[in-house]
Amino acid sequence: MPKKKALIIGAGIAGIATAIRLAVKGYAVEVFEANSYAGGKLSEFEKDGFRFDAGPSLFTMPQYVDELFKLAGKQQSDHFNYQKLDVTCNYFYEDGSKIIAYADADKFAAEVSKVTGETTASIKKYAANSRNIYNITNHVFLERSLHQIKTYLNWATIKSIFRLPQIDAIRTMHKANTVYFKNDRVVQFFDRYATYNGSNPYAAPATLNVIPHIEQHFGAYFPAKGMYSIITSLVDLAESLGVKFHYNALVEEIILEKFKAKGIKVNGELIEADVVVSNMDVWFTYHKLLKNHPQLYPQKVLKQERSSSALIFYWGINKQFAGLDLHNIFFSANYKAEFDHIWQQKYIYHDPTVYLNISSKFKADDAPKGCENWFVMINVPANTGQDWDKLIADARQNILTKLSKNLGEDISKLVISESILDPRGIESKTSSYQGSIYGTSSNSQFAAFLRHANRSSKINNLYFCGGSVHPGGGIPLCLLSAKIVSEWIGW
Ligand SMILES: Cc1cc2nc3c(=O)[nH]c(=O)nc-3n(C[C@H](O)[C@H](O)[C@H](O)COP(=O)(O)OP(=O)(O)OC[C@H]3O[C@@H](n4cnc5c(N)ncnc54)[C@H](O)[C@@H]3O)c2cc1C
Repeated sequence: MPKKKALIIGAGIAGIATAIRLAVKGYAVEVFEANSYAGGKLSEFEKDGFRFDAGPSLFTMPQYVDELFKLAGKQQSDHFNYQKLDVTCNYFYEDGSKIIAYADADKFAAEVSKVTGETTASIKKYAANSRNIYNITNHVFLERSLHQIKTYLNWATIKSIFRLPQIDAIRTMHKANTVYFKNDRVVQFFDRYATYNGSNPYAAPATLNVIPHIEQHFGAYFPAKGMYSIITSLVDLAESLGVKFHYNALVEEIILEKFKAKGIKVNGELIEADVVVSNMDVWFTYHKLLKNHPQLYPQKVLKQERSSSALIFYWGINKQFAGLDLHNIFFSANYKAEFDHIWQQKYIYHDPTVYLNISSKFKADDAPKGCENWFVMINVPANTGQDWDKLIADARQNILTKLSKNLGEDISKLVISESILDPRGIESKTSSYQGSIYGTSSNSQFAAFLRHANRSSKINNLYFCGGSVHPGGGIPLCLLSAKIVSEWIGW
């Protein structure tokens, strides 16, 4: 019997993972990628002797990558290696204090208590709540489709549904955090986890307080060859299973026959298939690839608020800083004002929280001797036509001033190489509507239910994976979307 054929639009991490899973199932899989490289948001580049991971820098839940090697019958450690971090992140506050987030739970609680005066008991109580939310939501919201009847016929789901009142969906993250903690710095520390999926802690439900559990319980990791090696090793794995990748292959249209996806159009050529999976942002999938079928658009779903975007300066720094680690955060003095600027005014606050990632701390050849590769990122609103050139110029100055003050050194004099990525660039490089980095925001209790399903309810044989659909953005959730899609497709 000839193999069934699956076509995947986009070689983002979810597209690659879906390709692997479908190839393992026996499908003949082809991936069409508009760029000349795989990875989408998860990409890398080199400049002036520095190597930068251009997008994600925090690697959590590596077990979802391992699972793909296992499925394919390969030993992951022969192809992809990573190490667990002892220190997850350094947090610098504007009052000069610093919290070192140790991976070890006891050490972490003792550190927070020492710096802020919160009790270790309150920190552990918070961790237990985070774990409880994870145990309830994992089955219902993350590992399964919310749009498939069989999800609700599962005993684990039924048990979780009975426990839903415990997931703290009514109040906001910030509100819950102020009840758990007296100290503003601890509240700010835990509020920041809203940004892990591009949301606002002053609006997002306290259910998102599950995120610290992902990082603190399961840990944060560093891939030995840098973040981009997640992509290269998975593309190698996919190719070893017979998956064909086509680069510089912009898909122009999804071809329908009645209410069924029949194939795709690439460079004017029609390629037929049994199944089409879009890893392209769902908003653009409809508006570009199905533009002749507006009657099939899930209008309410496509109107959902987008997640925040990012502004990144990739700086080659002509010095090494012993006080910095792989992940570093320099908090703003007024977090509420910062988020009001991002979400209400759609603007950049003059004192933004700065995230500084330095992969050369773990991978020395990412920077020339005596230098460091700084990935300097701030959260910014999605692109709705702001004057980005002006905003970038102001933000650059404000970031340099803030880092110089915190590190006691004029950083502007140390920048020997610079590249910049802003929401416009994210939108054009990866076809992400408004340059949002996590698809839609989670700023409401209903967000999880209003995220697009992994299958079209109106077009047969059309499936969706990636950060703009269920269960959401970020590497782990994108990998779970691939799992849900491949299980749904069946054989
Ligand atoms: C700056 C930044 C920092 C981030 N930090 C983190 C982090 O630390 N940790 C984390 O877990 N996540 C992080 N993320 C989020 C994470 O990168 C994304 O959630 C994830 O990589 C998205 O993967 P995806 O599968 O949805 O596809 P995408 O990466 O969005 O890729 C989609 C692909 O589809 C292709 N495509 C689109 N349209 C077409 C078409 N018509 N034809 C052919 N190809 C097409 C695009 O070219 C692209 O390659 C970050 C993202 C950014 C941008």
